[in-house]
Amino acid sequence: MRTLKELTRPNVWALKPYSSARDEYSGVEASVFLDANENPYNTPNNRYPDPLQRELKALIAPLKGVKEENIFLGNGSDEAIDLVFRAFCRPGVDNVVAIDPTYGMYQVCAEVNDVEYRKMLLDVYYQFKASSLLSAIDENTKAIFVCSPNNPTGNSLCRKEIESLLKRFDGLVIVDEAYIDFSSSESLLKDLDKYPNLIVLQTFSKAWGCAAIRLGMAFASPEIIAIFNKIKYPYNVNRLTQEEAIKVLQHPETIKGWVNTLLEERARVMEEFVKLPCCVRVFPTDANFFLAKVYEATQIYNYLVSEGIIVRNRTNVALCNDCLRITIGTKEENEALLEALKKVEVE
Ligand code: PMP
Repeated sequence: MRTLKELTRPNVWALKPYSSARDEYSGVEASVFLDANENPYNTPNNRYPDPLQRELKALIAPLKGVKEENIFLGNGSDEAIDLVFRAFCRPGVDNVVAIDPTYGMYQVCAEVNDVEYRKMLLDVYYQFKASSLLSAIDENTKAIFVCSPNNPTGNSLCRKEIESLLKRFDGLVIVDEAYIDFSSSESLLKDLDKYPNLIVLQTFSKAWGCAAIRLGMAFASPEIIAIFNKIKYPYNVNRLTQEEAIKVLQHPETIKGWVNTLLEERARVMEEFVKLPCCVRVFPTDANFFLAKVYEATQIYNYLVSEGIIVRNRTNVALCNDCLRITIGTKEENEALLEALKKVEVE
């Protein structure tokens, strides 16, 4: 791996971060806080939240089998994706490589930050070869993005190829595991110490049922996490979010129950879906959604909208012609979808 200094934008490396009042004093012994220009009334929302979310990280660390200094928390994992560009990629000079198709925010963040985004098409099984991604790199490639299970295809990527990337690429490898809780494949988190160039992304938005609170996680070496912390907004995770996440983390068995129910429903819905006259095929999935090829995706999408049922039309995405991406909902929601689709006639 290139050194972290070589990978980091020189201005970020040299930056002296903003030091907030809560950074400078974070002890609990004091009882009079006149340091942060807060209003003394309207407790507890009057106080700035912990900028480093220590209580929350102390709960997440044992759950994920990592140390607190391996964790960055952000306003959704989208924040961590954006920080990768802001921390490491020089606008107009550096580039990143990613699989295609995949989650759209990598490209949006690249473009916002004026960073070239190099896409490498997956194969017909929606898999990639490390050598193919590596053929797209040059000396200005700072990061490679992979997503496993992948969105919108749903499948997990071949672990051997991801590990091959981690070993052979001397820049950062971001593995987005937003859907890992639904997957039969193991997370790469256990290998965090083995690969200093690995950044794993996870989120509270999917299995944890907390998309509205906006809480994403990035796991990486303490040195990479320190760079994220240096450039993030001082209070990037608000108090209400921290408090709600702490509450949710007390009940991991509830989340396990949801995941099991969704996995059962996924199997049932997919089995029913292939029997529909409008279905061409469903693709194997490891996520809480599946991709289905249908006859005339756009017509079916519009018909479902008219029935008040919204799925994602992916027909214009690479390798996803005539494909709909279908999230697994409650049993009733899934039934409504299947019943509506049974009425679709195919010539
Ligand atoms: N990664 C992937 C692969 C996703 O599909 C999504 C959301 N659709 C995200 C990240 C963003 O998650 P968050 O809500 O944590 O920003």
